[in-house]
Amino acid sequence: MKITGLEAIILYSEVKNPVKDALHTYDAGTTVVTKLLTDEGITGYASSYFGRGKATASVLKVLLEQELAPQLIGEDPLFTKRIRKKLWGVADYHGVEGLAHFGISAIDIALWDIVGKSVGLPVAKVLGGVRDRVPAYAMAGWYFDTEKEYIEKCIATAEEGFKAIKLKVGRYSLENDVQRIKAAQRELGEHFTFLVDANQGFDEREAIRRGRAYEQLGIRWLEEPLIPQQKENHARLVQALDIPIAIGENYYAKHQFYDAVQAGAASIYQLDNRRAGGPTEWMEIGAITDAAGLQLASHGGGPANVNMLCAIPNAIFLETGSLKKENHMLKTQLTMVDGEVLLPDTPGMGTDVNEDYIRAHRVDG
Ligand SMILES: [Mg+2]
Repeated sequence: MKITGLEAIILYSEVKNPVKDALHTYDAGTTVVTKLLTDEGITGYASSYFGRGKATASVLKVLLEQELAPQLIGEDPLFTKRIRKKLWGVADYHGVEGLAHFGISAIDIALWDIVGKSVGLPVAKVLGGVRDRVPAYAMAGWYFDTEKEYIEKCIATAEEGFKAIKLKVGRYSLENDVQRIKAAQRELGEHFTFLVDANQGFDEREAIRRGRAYEQLGIRWLEEPLIPQQKENHARLVQALDIPIAIGENYYAKHQFYDAVQAGAASIYQLDNRRAGGPTEWMEIGAITDAAGLQLASHGGGPANVNMLCAIPNAIFLETGSLKKENHMLKTQLTMVDGEVLLPDTPGMGTDVNEDYIRAHRVDG
């Protein structure tokens, strides 16, 4: 089999009800869909997400189509590591992180989609599966305009079948955090698992002060208390606090994860498959964290993440929004049973995008 072409498509949509975390407002979403074509008629798909970043998506499209794609034409898509090496060689002058690694990650996901489709199996099974379902939590506790909406969103997660929820913290005072957490705990009960995410909102001293309060409330993990570059500072939090520290959604490739593991920066690493790398990189990051006795979760949901978490022994949690909402874009539907999302039996990564959705949201021609 040979790769014959690559197409990058930009999709844009306004968010009807904008949400906020400690630092950001999400009122629009831009996605770059990567399609990798082969001479055997198999097409590999991947999606990269950029929040509001329309211009950023355009840069990635140019990078994918004009700089990375020429390296792929004529290559056998089953040689995933050889292709990754070629792409690193192209990107190393401007840096193999940031947008370059978004491009490399998208190509690797699309390659593995082709690998799975070529043998008729979900990628988790091709990689050596360890489970066929994974516990999921709902990223539902955003900052909304009203307290009423926040509570409604919390209740909706329980109604949908989740047993765990993540709440945003750090936008306002510690007292406000405590009030938000207690309100969710009152509605959802003791059997629910609660996680909090500060989205890099604190400095070290404030993270320790707030982390001690979250511990008292039985929170499962404190996510991104500091900017991700401060690995030594994170390591001091790990030492000072009992609550597990989770980071990683803003790290690129195994080397940044390796450095963080060496520094002792967290107990749980959260991989974003649009940024950290595709399955090739994930399996290596999985091995590094597993060897160090650490746990792994996904940043973001969808069938691609389910495939990866089902292939990595130390994976503990899938992050996702409402499963009903996400299904408009992708062909593969996810199913949750007893708070766990099942591995779909779709061959490949499950990343095929509905053509109707592309037609409705395409902004690049
Ligand atoms: Mg986060």
